[in-house]
Amino acid sequence: MVLSGPSGVGKSSVVDYLRTNHPAIDVSVSVTTRAPRPGEIDGVHYHFIDPAEFERMIAGGELLEWAEFAGNLYGTPAVPVRESLAAGRPVIVEIELQGARQVRSSAPDALQVFLSPPSWEVLVDRLSGRATEAPADIARRLETARVELAAEGEFDVSVVNDSVPLAAEEIVGLLTG
Ligand code: ADP
Ligand code: 5GP
Repeated sequence: MVLSGPSGVGKSSVVDYLRTNHPAIDVSVSVTTRAPRPGEIDGVHYHFIDPAEFERMIAGGELLEWAEFAGNLYGTPAVPVRESLAAGRPVIVEIELQGARQVRSSAPDALQVFLSPPSWEVLVDRLSGRATEAPADIARRLETARVELAAEGEFDVSVVNDSVPLAAEEIVGLLTG
């Protein structure tokens, strides 16, 4: 399953809930060149790597998909996802729009889920309230969010993130139902 949606909608919160409450669902750990936020653990939330290592992974064909987002590189290591699928375990990749489009063409059988905010104002409040980005970066992420929200119709299903547990359980239902 691909889980996408604008920055600040709550994707990481939903994924954290799934990690804690539904350990039978595998969650892909992306590589990124972004610096860790307070509380983010290397190997759990991301593998934090430098641009040279990222380029090496692209060149080696190690990434299922990758994209640049808000000035940093993000990618999905292919091997763990293939291992989950080969073992018959459900796996979620939480990625932005360009990556979701790549997976749509390379793995058309993956269910594409869009996590949407209850309103634009709530999205702005959540992204600003997280207080992990400088104002210029928040503005850039909100500009991209408009593009991502306009692409909601490309996805198989939309889940509104009013409440993290309810949105997460709806996603579990989509995976297991
Ligand atoms: P994303 O991973 O999509 O960028 P986050 O999970 O970091 O978003 O959430 C952005 C902010 O919104 C965080 O401060 C988070 O605690 C908060 N948040 C997420 N989901 C909800 C929700 N359903 N209700 C209220 N606040 C939320
Ligand atoms: P953040 O910096 O807020 O953690 O992530 C920024 C954006 O990058 C989010 O939309 C997140 O879903 C996306 N992202 C995280 N990992 C990947 C990945 O491996 N590939 C792609 N394409 N996007 C990712």
